[in-house]
Amino acid sequence: MADKRDYYEVLGVSRDASEDEIKKAYRKLAKKYHPDVSKEKDAEEKFKEVNEAYEVLSDPQKKQTYDQFGFAGMDGANMGSGFEGFTGAGFDDFGDIFSSFFGGMGTDPFGRRTSSSNGPRRGNDRLMRMDIDFMDACFGKSASFDLNVEETCAHCGGTGADSPSDIQTCSTCGGSGRILRQQRTGFGVFQTQSACPDCNGTGKRIRKVCPDCNGRGYIRSNRTINVDIPAGINSGQRVRVPGKGERGVNGGPNGDLYIEIEVRPHEKFEREGKNILLEIPISAVDATLGTTVDVPTIHGEVTMKIPAGTQEGTILRLKEKGVEDLRGGKPGDQLCSVHIQIDKKLSARERELYQQLQELQKQNTKDNIWTKFKKQFN
Ligand SMILES: [Zn+2]
Ligand SMILES: [Zn+2]
Repeated sequence: MADKRDYYEVLGVSRDASEDEIKKAYRKLAKKYHPDVSKEKDAEEKFKEVNEAYEVLSDPQKKQTYDQFGFAGMDGANMGSGFEGFTGAGFDDFGDIFSSFFGGMGTDPFGRRTSSSNGPRRGNDRLMRMDIDFMDACFGKSASFDLNVEETCAHCGGTGADSPSDIQTCSTCGGSGRILRQQRTGFGVFQTQSACPDCNGTGKRIRKVCPDCNGRGYIRSNRTINVDIPAGINSGQRVRVPGKGERGVNGGPNGDLYIEIEVRPHEKFEREGKNILLEIPISAVDATLGTTVDVPTIHGEVTMKIPAGTQEGTILRLKEKGVEDLRGGKPGDQLCSVHIQIDKKLSARERELYQQLQELQKQNTKDNIWTKFKKQFN
C-alpha cells in the first residue's frame, strides 16, 4: 500500500477533473498499456494500475470515499476486478475492449460471458492437427478417429442433480452465489462481495447427486468423430466439428473442435492454391517442331499440344485440370513448365541427321542464332 500511486496521478488528471476527462484519460492509458499490444516493459502492471484507478474514480460513490479517506477507505476485494477476464485474449481492435469495459455487457471478444456468474457458459474450442495425403486434399476424404470428449450428462442435463427437485437454492447466499461482508473501520462501514463458500458461487445446493456423472454434470466418453474433409483443402485450413470442443460450464454447450489440415507433399505434383504445377521434359526436336504429348495430371493423363518453337521455361496451361475450388468456383489449372532436354546419346543415324542440320544452318548465316548474337557486339 505504501508505494501505491495516487489514482489521480495514475490517470494524469486533476482532482476536479470531470467524468468525461477521467474517461478520456483512462481510454488513452488503457490503450497505451494493454498487455496484448503494449511494448512497454511493465505494461501489465501499469494496465492494472490504470484499471484500478479508473474503477474507483469512475464510480461516484467510490470516488467520494477515496477523496475523503484515500487508500484507507478502499477495500482490496473489489479492486482491479475490471481487469479479470480480459487477459490473454487477442483483440481485433480496441472497440472490443471498450465495449467490454464500458458497455457492461460482460462478454469477451468471442461473445461469451466473462462474468463469474453461475449461468451456463460455452466451453472453449479445441484445436487438433491432421496430416493428409496430397491426393486426399485434392479430392476430399471422409476421416474418422476416436476422441475423448466431455459431454453434458444426459441424465441430469449438466445440473449434477439426480432430479430437478434435488436442486435447492443455497440458503447461505439466497441463490446469488455471492455473499456480502460488512467491515467496520474507523471511517465507517464498508461492504465487500465474494463467492459464497457453501455453494462455490453456483447459488445452488444439490440434495442427491446424479448417479450417472456423480454430480459433475458431464460425462467423459470416447467418441468416434467423423469428418468430411472437402476437396480442395490446403495446409493451414481448418475443418470445424461442432460441439466436440471442451465442455461447457453449468450446462452450457461444448465448444467446437477445429481440425487443422497439413497436406503431405507429392513427389511430382506441386500445389499453388488450386493450381497444380508440374515440370515436363521436352526434347529439343519436339520443342523446335512441336508435338503432342500425354501429360500426367491428378485427374489422369491429358493430351496436350506442344507448339512449334516452344522455349525453355514456357508455361503451358491445362485448363481446369487442377484442384477443386473450396468455395464452389471454377477448379484450378495445371501449369506445365517446359524443361528442354538435350539428348546426350545419339544413334549413328540421329548423329548423321543432326550433322546435316548443322551444315545447313552454317550455310544460312543470315538467320543463324550465333550470327545474330555476334551482331550485338559490333
Ligand atoms: Zn451459496
Ligand atoms: Zn449427471
